[in-house]
Amino acid sequence: MARDIKKIISQMTLEEKASLCSGEDRWNTRAIERLGIPSIMMSDGPHGLRKQMGEKFFESVPSTCFPSGSCLASSWDRKLLEKVGIALGEECQAEKVSILLGPSVNIKRSPLCGRNFEYYSEDPYLSSELAASYIKGVQSQGVGTSIKHYAANNQEHRRLTVDAKVDKRTLREIYLASFEGAVKQSQPWTVMCAYNKVNGKYCAENKYLLTDILKEEWGHEGFVISDWGAVNERVDGLNAGLELEMPSSYGQGEKKIIEAVKSGKLDEEILDKTVERLLTIIFKAVDNQNRDVTYDREAHHQMVREVARQCMVLLKNEDYILPLKKDSVLAVIGAFAKSPRYQGGGSSHINPIRIENAYDEIIKIAGDSTRVLYASGYKLDSDEVDENLISEAKEMARQSDVAVVFAGLPDSYESEAYDRKNIKIPESHSRLIEAVAGVNDNMIVVLSNGSPVEMPWLSKAKAVLEGYLSGQAGGGAMADLLFGIESPSGKLAETFPLKLSHNPSYLNYPGEENTVEYREGIFIGYRYYDTKDIKPLFPFGHGLSYTNFSYTGISLDKKEISDSEIVNVTVKVKNTGKVKGKEVVQLYVRDVKSSVIRPEKELKGFVKVELEPGEEKKVTFTLGKRAFAYYNVDMGDWHVESGDFEILVGGSSRDMALKETVSVKSSITIRKKYSRNSTIEDLMNDPIGVKAIQEVIEYFKENSPIMAAADDKQNSNIVEAFFKFLPLRGLITFSNGAIEEEMINKIIQQLNDTT
Ligand code: BGC
Repeated sequence: MARDIKKIISQMTLEEKASLCSGEDRWNTRAIERLGIPSIMMSDGPHGLRKQMGEKFFESVPSTCFPSGSCLASSWDRKLLEKVGIALGEECQAEKVSILLGPSVNIKRSPLCGRNFEYYSEDPYLSSELAASYIKGVQSQGVGTSIKHYAANNQEHRRLTVDAKVDKRTLREIYLASFEGAVKQSQPWTVMCAYNKVNGKYCAENKYLLTDILKEEWGHEGFVISDWGAVNERVDGLNAGLELEMPSSYGQGEKKIIEAVKSGKLDEEILDKTVERLLTIIFKAVDNQNRDVTYDREAHHQMVREVARQCMVLLKNEDYILPLKKDSVLAVIGAFAKSPRYQGGGSSHINPIRIENAYDEIIKIAGDSTRVLYASGYKLDSDEVDENLISEAKEMARQSDVAVVFAGLPDSYESEAYDRKNIKIPESHSRLIEAVAGVNDNMIVVLSNGSPVEMPWLSKAKAVLEGYLSGQAGGGAMADLLFGIESPSGKLAETFPLKLSHNPSYLNYPGEENTVEYREGIFIGYRYYDTKDIKPLFPFGHGLSYTNFSYTGISLDKKEISDSEIVNVTVKVKNTGKVKGKEVVQLYVRDVKSSVIRPEKELKGFVKVELEPGEEKKVTFTLGKRAFAYYNVDMGDWHVESGDFEILVGGSSRDMALKETVSVKSSITIRKKYSRNSTIEDLMNDPIGVKAIQEVIEYFKENSPIMAAADDKQNSNIVEAFFKFLPLRGLITFSNGAIEEEMINKIIQQLNDTT
């Protein structure tokens, strides 16, 4: 319905406008009946609908619990995320919720972050692409999203007060990029700003983040919501671009806004613009409400099982022990097999419609020919090793052909509000794994956890299936994959380090008191492990299948492009095995020679393809400027340096089957500003500089006693280095005054005037 929002605003009193800028209560916006302004409801998010019932935080209406973020991301499947989004949108419509608080896209800086299970990846491209699809899905149902937590909310420790000190390039290339692509591609109705500060300013009052970048540069059209209780000073927030304070400020926020307008501290025009953004989305939400939507709970449950199958990652599979063979004795060991761990703690905690467990589903699939034994192996509510349970489990394993151990992280290990202390699984789980391995060589471990764990027992396991937190039907999906009903096709969206201390943020996580410095800069995840050549436990992008894929025929449609052109990369991928499977084809770009420090390679494309046995498909990637660019802080823009870039394609970040090179020509020449402290080398690297200084150098060489010392080999090395790094002013001193200050100043002036 068309409305004249500007006219409505002109009819609003100052008090009414101010009142709209904070919530009515925990979940609803304010209604102003006099003017026909309705209230809309928002709810968590992200991997299910947590519509709270009454005041109790953890009591919510039953809804479908989908796999959590880290699990969904391992699918590397845009369509799948969109499909999940559509289902979530339907559930929101059915429950009359207008905005779903998700997706959560903070980058996984450290595996310790308590909320990593909700987040997608250590890579911003993968994360933002998946987020864009999720948003598209939800919003296609007439329900808004709130991409969160903007920005640099990469730890739970002191999240309400910590100041994340992140240099501009790192912020742009890593932490903001995870939001940028999604905001630009799919216009989330809202963006949720984070609790923490970024470089000294609370996100809720950070004009650089909320207005300069989000609204002006990226063109976000919706409004910004504060994370629940993230507002520090309401008026500063409004001035910075924070439209809605959540939850209600119980009159405090609006009082401050009214006073600020009256005292001239806040321009009423800013308030009007804020209200305009709020009303645009509120009316959009109301216009899109569909009172008739219901959803099929059983169909959504089945969908979780199908989705989870696409996400789980087969980390190891020796001797083709998987898929399981029937007609055997199978020991199912570990309490998680009957009481699955399938979601994380905190605001994303769903009250699932029903839960499926792996044990029951294994029994159903195994059929009569397979004997299935069970032992719990550990207690769910305690980390202590229970020797009796371990002995019982060993006995079962001894009697079996194959033992499948279900282990991982208990609920209390991963939650919003606090971080993990280490990346170990409980002793009761690891002892059980060791004990079972001691009596049965055919041990398979199935893990349920939201983020990476150490695996000191890895060599003793024949296979490891990373199940992540796979939602209410995750147990069924595990059974399906174990028996080969479908081939695993998930790939890690994060590196599993050998040990925590290898993680690049290790020395600066979670910081000191209220400050955390991101000193590792852009070297996050595989960007670090690859550049340092450190072997991880499992690399980014890794994941096995029950079939094999071959990569051939990489070709580029152009060998040379300018930075405003695109290049299409085509590769052929073939299923060379005996069963149907899906492969995630990954494309990375490596800047062969760069004047700035860059990672070894960066992910710039991915496609998931399904292939029948023997089938081959062509996969095409289109690469534009951003695939080759780094963020140039001085220019305040993305910049590509002229030169060669390697295009690497393969099935994991550590398995690049194909390689080609494209040469990119920059359309911008960055002219350096020179000073008397610029070095000879600085000028020699610049074609204009070389010319400008040529004559003076000749003269210097003739007149400098130091240059004369270059006659023997040892000395010549010293002289060469000395000369290279000599600042221009040094030409005066080391020519014994033959070169004068004026000559130097003239050269500098001329160079700086050249455009
Ligand atoms: C969380 C948000 C969540 C909000 C509402 C906050 O504590 O950080 O992710 O959407 O609560 O429950």
